[in-house]
Formats: sequence, structure tokens, C-alpha cells
Amino acid sequence: MSVYDVAIVGAGPGGLYTAICAAKKGLKVVLIEKRKDISKLTRYCSEHIILEEMYNGDTITVDVGAKLNSKGEVPQGTKNIIKSTNFGWEVEYVGPLCPVRDKYYYSAKLEHNAHYAWPDRHPFAWKYDKAGLLQQLLNQVLALGVEYIPETTCYEARDSGKSEGLLLKCVSKGKRFQMQAKKLVEASGASAQVAQSLGMNEDRIYFASALTRAYYMSGVKGYNPAEWCGYWGLCYGSNFAPLMGTGPAGHYDWADVILIGHPAQMPGELFEHFTKKSPVAYMFENAKIEREHSCATKAYAPMKVPYKGNVLAIGDAAAFVETQMQGALNCGFWAADALEKELDGKPGFDEYTKTWQETFEFNDDGMMQVQSGYALIPYYTDEQVVYLFSLLDGVTMDGSWSQYASPRMMWKEIHKHDERIQQERPDVWEKIVNQQGKTLSDSMSQ
Ligand SMILES: Cc1cc2nc3c(=O)[nH]c(=O)nc-3n(C[C@H](O)[C@H](O)[C@H](O)COP(=O)(O)OP(=O)(O)OC[C@H]3O[C@@H](n4cnc5c(N)ncnc54)[C@H](O)[C@@H]3O)c2cc1C
Repeated sequence: MSVYDVAIVGAGPGGLYTAICAAKKGLKVVLIEKRKDISKLTRYCSEHIILEEMYNGDTITVDVGAKLNSKGEVPQGTKNIIKSTNFGWEVEYVGPLCPVRDKYYYSAKLEHNAHYAWPDRHPFAWKYDKAGLLQQLLNQVLALGVEYIPETTCYEARDSGKSEGLLLKCVSKGKRFQMQAKKLVEASGASAQVAQSLGMNEDRIYFASALTRAYYMSGVKGYNPAEWCGYWGLCYGSNFAPLMGTGPAGHYDWADVILIGHPAQMPGELFEHFTKKSPVAYMFENAKIEREHSCATKAYAPMKVPYKGNVLAIGDAAAFVETQMQGALNCGFWAADALEKELDGKPGFDEYTKTWQETFEFNDDGMMQVQSGYALIPYYTDEQVVYLFSLLDGVTMDGSWSQYASPRMMWKEIHKHDERIQQERPDVWEKIVNQQGKTLSDSMSQ
């Protein structure tokens, strides 16, 4: 049985980029992927490159290879370069881009909104073609001579210690087989199946699960591909704000309508309410569902130390919810360095751990304190949400995508009116004060 320097489980952005960077360092790499064709997305992703400064500990820029066309999009076939400002890597992406310039969080009844945009409306995110990028990364992997094994699930790993390396148990089209490697990179995404088999998930606190369903829809009235919108209020039918963003590559004229539920509140029922009974129902009178996607997510506390023995867990496999594509690329980039050092007898995984902890905001215990924005519904009544959002009238906050920064920015603006809230709305003030000590798991379990 041939022994690889590195086996990587999962050909998402994290695993693919680890394979590229490790192969460029001369390591003998095998990449195992359960899907047949990674150029078709099977797990929903909203597919944005997030340009926010220091988002997930890095500032990503895109050198766009062409001018926007008459529809305001970068056309198909354009050669663009995605760049990491902090870590220095560059990834070529050939494909379309659609700019996101405005974010609106609407209050109940659509009466007020929180608006995020830069004064000159430069984009704070680009909608891109994730499947196209994954295929392009895979082409590089293959060109570098990495052994790629698709349609294969690695369901278990056994780590026999530092020098002996690992045994990987795999199954492909019903046939079981084993492989050997000196080091393993667990890049299997949020399922973290291999980490699970090694007991690496044991100390992670489980918070909650969410079921997401996304509907790409044509003919949505008032839809603007350059906007990302959220709708806060029980009148929209859900505790998690329904979202509306840009449609998929090739169809930026379609809206992406995203509903997040759970087994007792299925996304399909939420969709029915949102599009037929909520204040935005008028937008869907002549709309048509073109495509549907779904995914399940589980929120676990992140792995503070994402390695054990010869195994390094990267990207979503070690994260609290998502590292995003760009964060997973960062992990792949650092992982290759760490692997090279470890194989040379140096503490590469310790160095990786330090960078992992310093880079991702979710590794900060303070972040695990509730994100106030998430806790708006059903903690505040719809009428109270309308009141809170009315305090944002006339304000445009900086262009922000971040699920961590945006609520903080919104609450900073609201807190400028603390005296007024205490006088006008003691009921709202009491809730704000009580909310300070809430934990994330409290808010998600409501
Ligand atoms: C609703 C939603 C919206 C999102 N929107 C965005 C967005 O706008 N922008 C953004 O950048 N990110 C977004 N993300 C997050 C993004 O999808 C992930 O953070 C990113 O893809 C993580 O990359 P990864 O390489 O760690 O894992 P993944 O991309 O999940 O890749 C894991 C790979 O491992 C394979 N695999 C799994 N188990 C095994 C196994 N046992 N054996 C072999 N192969 C296996 C899977 O098939 C998959 O190909 C979103 C996620 C969700 C849930």
C-alpha cells in the first residue's frame, strides 16, 4: 500500500487549496471527495466573496478583469484574481461577478430599515460562481499531479501515533478499501465526519441546528440584484429573518429567497407564509420558482485546538458554523505550511492553531455572547422592532456583510438614543437591559 505524505478528506475550497499549496511544496498528496462532480453545487451556498475589511481576520480584494456590462455585472469568462491582503495568497477565478452595494434589514411591516452601504456605493461583496471556482481549483490540483479520488467517502480514520501515521477507511460505490498517510487534513466541511471518528468533536458544545431552503425565483417585483435584504418581524413568519439576495451565476435577474427553519418550523411552510401572507407578498404575485436548494447546518462551538496527533481539521470542519470560502482558502494555505513543517519534525500544527485562533472571530469567547441582531425575533414584539428600527431613520451605516459586525453597528446606532428609549419606551429598555447577559444558545433555542 503506498503511503502518502498527506491525505485530504473533502474537495471544498479548504481541501482543494490545501492540496494545491501542499503539492507545490513537493508533498505527495491524495485528495478524497465523496461527490462525483464538484462543479455542481449540491449543498446550498449563497456564493458571495465578502470584501469587508478584516472579515474573518482577513481583508479579501478582487482584481476584476473586465468592466461592468450594461446589466451592471462582470460578464462570464472574465479572469479575476481573488487576493488575501493579510496572508498574501492569490487565486484566479474565471467567471461572472455581481456587485452587492446595499444591505437593508427591514423592520416589521416594512416601515423602517437599517441600511448598510458605502457612500460611493462600492461593493462590499461579489456574488460569484462557487461551483465554477471549485472546478478551476480542481483543474490545478490535477495539473500538479495530486491523486484525486472522487465518489469516495472516508468514514473513519485510525491514528497510530506520530511516526506511524494513519489508516483511512474509505468506501467507493459500495467497495471498501484502506489507505495510509503520514498526515491527514480533515476538510469535510460542517459534517466533520472524520474528526468525529477520531473523537475530536467530543468537547464541542452543540448549540442548535437549522434547516435552510433557498428558492431562485424569476419575476420578483422590486428585486434588485445589487441588494441583500433581511426581514425582521413575526409578520414575515419566522424567528430567523427571511433573506433575499442575488440569484445564481447566469441568472442574476432571479432573486434568491432564503428561509431558515428547524424541524418544528420547516422552511417550506415559512416560504408559503413569507411569499403569500407577509407584508412582502405583493412582490411574489407574478414570481416563479426556477430552482430550489437546501442544506442543514449545525452550530457547534469551534475547535479551539483543531489538531490531534497527525490530524489537522480545517475550514468548516473545525468552525462555529462557517469559515466562508475565503476563510477556508486561508485555512488551506496555512495547512500546507503546517504540514511541511510537521513532516520535517517541527511544530507546524501548533503554529496553525495560533493563526486559527487569532484570525477567526468565533474563537473569541466574547463572540459567544449573544449577537444582539440574531436575538431580535421573537424577543422583541413586531411593534417594538418597528420602534427600534425607527431610531435608524436617515442613518446609513458602513457597507457591512458580517453577521458579527452588522448587528453591533446597528445596536451602536440605537444606543445613541438610550435616554430617549428609557423615557419613551421603558418596556423596550427593560428588554435591552435584560438581553445583555443572554447566551447564544439561549437565543437560538427560543
Ligand atoms: C446557507 C449558507 C450560505 C452560505 N453563503 C456563503 C457565502 O455567501 N459566501 C461564502 O464564502 N461562504 C458561504 N457559506 C459557507 C461556505 O459554504 C463554507 O464556509 C465553505 O464552503 C467551507 O469550505 P470547506 O472546504 O471547509 O467545506 P465544504 O465547502 O463544506 O467542503 C467539504 C467537502 O467535503 C466533502 N465531504 C464531506 N464529508 C466527506 C467524507 N466523509 N469523505 C469525503 N468527502 C467528504 C463534501 O462533499 C464537500 O465537497 C454559506 C454556507 C451556508 C450553509
